Amino acid sequence: MSIPPLAPDENPLPAPPAESARTNFASEDRLSALLDAAVDPIVLIDSAGRILRFSRAAERLFGYGSDEVLGRNVKLLMPQAYAQDHDQYIHRYQQTGTPRIIGIGREVTAQRKDGSTFPIDLSVGEFRSGAEQGFVGILRDISERKRQEQELLRSTAELRLIFDNAPTAMSITDIRGHILDANHACQVLLGYQRDDLLQRRYTDLTVDEDRAALVADFLSLNAVDDSFSREVRFRTPDGGVLYALLYAGVVCDIEQRSLLMIVGLIDRSALFAATREADELRDRLVHAGRLGMLGEMVSGIAHEVNQPLTAIANYANAGRRLLQNGLTDAAELVSILDKIGSQADRAGQVIRSLRSLTRKREQLRERLDCNALIEDVSRLMELDLRANGLRLQLKLSPALPPVHGDAVQIQQVVLNLIRNAAEAMQERRGDEFVRVTSSARARAVVEICVSDSGPGLSAEVEDRLFEPFLTTKAEGMGLGLSICKSIVSAHGGELLYRRGERGGAEFVLRLPTATE
Ligand code: ADP
Repeated sequence: MSIPPLAPDENPLPAPPAESARTNFASEDRLSALLDAAVDPIVLIDSAGRILRFSRAAERLFGYGSDEVLGRNVKLLMPQAYAQDHDQYIHRYQQTGTPRIIGIGREVTAQRKDGSTFPIDLSVGEFRSGAEQGFVGILRDISERKRQEQELLRSTAELRLIFDNAPTAMSITDIRGHILDANHACQVLLGYQRDDLLQRRYTDLTVDEDRAALVADFLSLNAVDDSFSREVRFRTPDGGVLYALLYAGVVCDIEQRSLLMIVGLIDRSALFAATREADELRDRLVHAGRLGMLGEMVSGIAHEVNQPLTAIANYANAGRRLLQNGLTDAAELVSILDKIGSQADRAGQVIRSLRSLTRKREQLRERLDCNALIEDVSRLMELDLRANGLRLQLKLSPALPPVHGDAVQIQQVVLNLIRNAAEAMQERRGDEFVRVTSSARARAVVEICVSDSGPGLSAEVEDRLFEPFLTTKAEGMGLGLSICKSIVSAHGGELLYRRGERGGAEFVLRLPTATE
C-alpha cells in the first residue's frame, strides 16, 4: 500500500505529482473506495500520529467529519488519560522496534466528538512508503459485546448469591458424583466446610448401611431430566447422624449430554425424631393394651394353669397311694410320673406364652409361622371360651408362607379379635363359635380371618369401628381395635372388617409374606 506522507502544515490530501496523475488517481480512488466500503472504521496515521485517512465508518462512529480530523493528532480520538501516553508508545516503538500493539491488537477506550467514551478492539498495522512510515488502525466498536459481558457477569454474580444464600441445602456435582460446589446451607446441614466437601461424593458421607442403595440410585441416573430422591443417613464430622432426604437430578447441555448433577438435601431429623417418638408411644400403648387384655383374661388363664396343677396333684396322690399299698407294678408308677411330666409341660407352656405376652421389649422383625402363633393363642383362650359355652374352631392352611414381623404383637391382634368375638356372644343364642382360619393369597399375603356367629355390628359402630375410644361395652376402653390396626399397619399389612355370611362379625388380617 502506498500512502502519501503528510507534512504537518500541508493540506491533508496533497495533489499527487502531475506526471503520475492517472496512476495515483486510480490508486487514490481505490484506497478511498476500500476504506469507505469497510464495515469496521479505519484510521491511518503517519509516524507522528497525525491522521491521514478517516473512513466513513470512522466518521459515523466518532461523529467527526474527515475534514475535522485530517492532519490532527490521533489523540483526538482518545480520552485524556490514554492520550497522554500515546506519543510515548509510538516513540518507544520507533526506538526499540518492539511492538506493544502492532500485530497484536488490544482493547482500548475511544472518545467520540461529543466527549462520550466507548470500548473498542483496536488492531494496528504498520506501513512504509519509501522513508515514510505510518500506521493503520482498524477499530471495532465492542460496546454491545462489553454490555453483554457485563450482563453475564452480573447475572452470574446474582446466581452465585442466590445459590449461596438459598435457605435449602444445594450442591453441584460432576457426573460421577464428586461435589464441585456446595452452598452455605448445605455446608451447615452436613457440618463440613466447603473445602472439605469439594471432590468428595455423597456416597462417601453416608452411614455404611445406606451406601449401596444410594450408589445404585446415582448409577441409574443418566437420561435427560432423570432424577431420584431417597431418605439417607449421613455421618457428620462431630460423630452424629443426619437424617435427610436427598434429591438429585441430571443437568444436560443443549445436545442432551449429561453435564453435571444438582443435588439437594432436606433435613429430616425433626420428622425422624417425631416418628421415633410416635413409635415409642405406640409401643407403650400396644404393651399397655396387651397387659389390660391379659388382666381381663386372668381368671381364664388361672383356670388354664390350675388344671394341669390339679391333675399333677391328683397323679401325685395316686402315686403315693400306690406306694403305700405296696407297689407291685413299676410300669404303673412310670406311667403316672409320665402323666405328671406332661401336665407340668402343659402348665409350663401356658406360663411361657403369658411371659412372652407381658414382657416389654424392643419390637422385633423375624420370620413367623402364623399357624404356630394362632395355635399358641388358642391354647390360652380355648378353655375360657369353652367355659362360656363357645367353641373355638381352627382351620389353618398347611402351606402357609412365613411373614416378617413381631410374634407377640401379631398374637396380641389375634387374641384381641378372638376375645372381642367371645364378648359379643355372651348372650348365647345357640351353638355359638369363633372360627380362626389362615390362608395364603397368591403367596404374597397371608390372611388370617377371625369370624364369629354373634350379632355382628350395627351400621353406626361399623362406620367408626377402628376409632379409638369407640366402645359399646360398659367396661370397655374402645382401644383394642385401634391398637390392632396400628400394629398391623406397622407390619405393612391391613386389618378390615366385613359382615360374615351368617350375620356375625368377620375381621380379616392381611400380612405381607417375608421376602428372602
Ligand atoms: P372394646 O373391646 O374395649 O370395646 P375394641 O376397640 O376392641 O374396644 O372394640 C370396639 C367395639 O367394636 C366394641 O365395643 C364392640 O361394640 C365392637 N366389636 C368389636 N368386635 C366385635 C365383634 N366380633 N362382634 C360385635 N361387635 C364387635
